[in-house]
Order: sequence, then C-alpha cells, then structure tokens
Amino acid sequence: MGRIGMGFDIHRLVEGRPLWLGGIQVPHGKGLLGHSDADILLHALCDALLGAAGAGDIGSYFPDTDPKWKGASSRIFVEKAMELVRKDGWIISNADLTVIAEEPKLAPHRGEIVRSIAGILGVPESSVNLKARTMEKLGPIGAGEAMSAYAVVLLEKK
Ligand code: MG
Repeated sequence: MGRIGMGFDIHRLVEGRPLWLGGIQVPHGKGLLGHSDADILLHALCDALLGAAGAGDIGSYFPDTDPKWKGASSRIFVEKAMELVRKDGWIISNADLTVIAEEPKLAPHRGEIVRSIAGILGVPESSVNLKARTMEKLGPIGAGEAMSAYAVVLLEKK
C-alpha cells in the first residue's frame, strides 16, 4: 500500500532577491521573500513528503524564527524530509508539482528544475513532473505580487 502527501506554499515576490525554484536560480527581476531562500517549490515538496510520511510539517522542523535557517538553502529541508521518509522504508513513486506565477515563463527552465529536484530526491527524472500555470491576472499572484506552489507525492514500500 502507498501513502500520499500534499504540500502548498506561497511567498511574496519582491525586488532585490534572487528567485529560487526547485533548487536552481531562475533569472527574473524579482525574487521570493522569506527567512530561508524562499524556494516555494521545495517548501511545498518538503510538506508533501512530510505529509505522506505522517511526520508533521516544515515549520515543526525548520521554524522561520530560528536564525539557523536564515538564508538557508531549502534543499536542506527536502533532504531532511527524505531522511525521515527513507528511515521508515518508503521510496518515492512519483512527485507531481505545480507552480502558479504570472511571470516569469517557466517552460524554458522546466528541464533544469526537474533535473534539480530529481537529484535532490535521488529519483529518476521520470518520477518528477512539473506543471506551470498563471492566475489569469487575478488576485495577488495575478498581479505579480506573489507566487505559489502545490506538490503531491506518492510513497511506496520497496
Ligand atoms: Mg515557504
């Protein structure tokens, strides 16, 4: 039997920050505001992994009040979640990810982001799917003031 987990994240998009998505820097005039590198895709993925493992959420391991995680690479968070997943004997069947952003266009970066995430998870690229969509100019995401991400992960026993 498998176990499913889902994760969601949203961060403000501001001037003067690099844009980290899935562990890579995507060229854009703005970046996501946060205590860590604010990589929404890795945060959503981390919560999906923890959810599937029945292990709580990202905030219980990496509180944004802890100076230790200031400017941290979110790769560390996903690696910690993977440690918990593997300890319980689970492997990833697949991860399905969605980024919602008005800009920038992610299609040119999709391959690199998928490779990066597959590398962090230690799974083949075919186990990671990345979708990108806009908010049709609606709301704060549509106005380019924020970006969000959803992640769904299925775990199975070896
Ligand atoms: Mg976050």
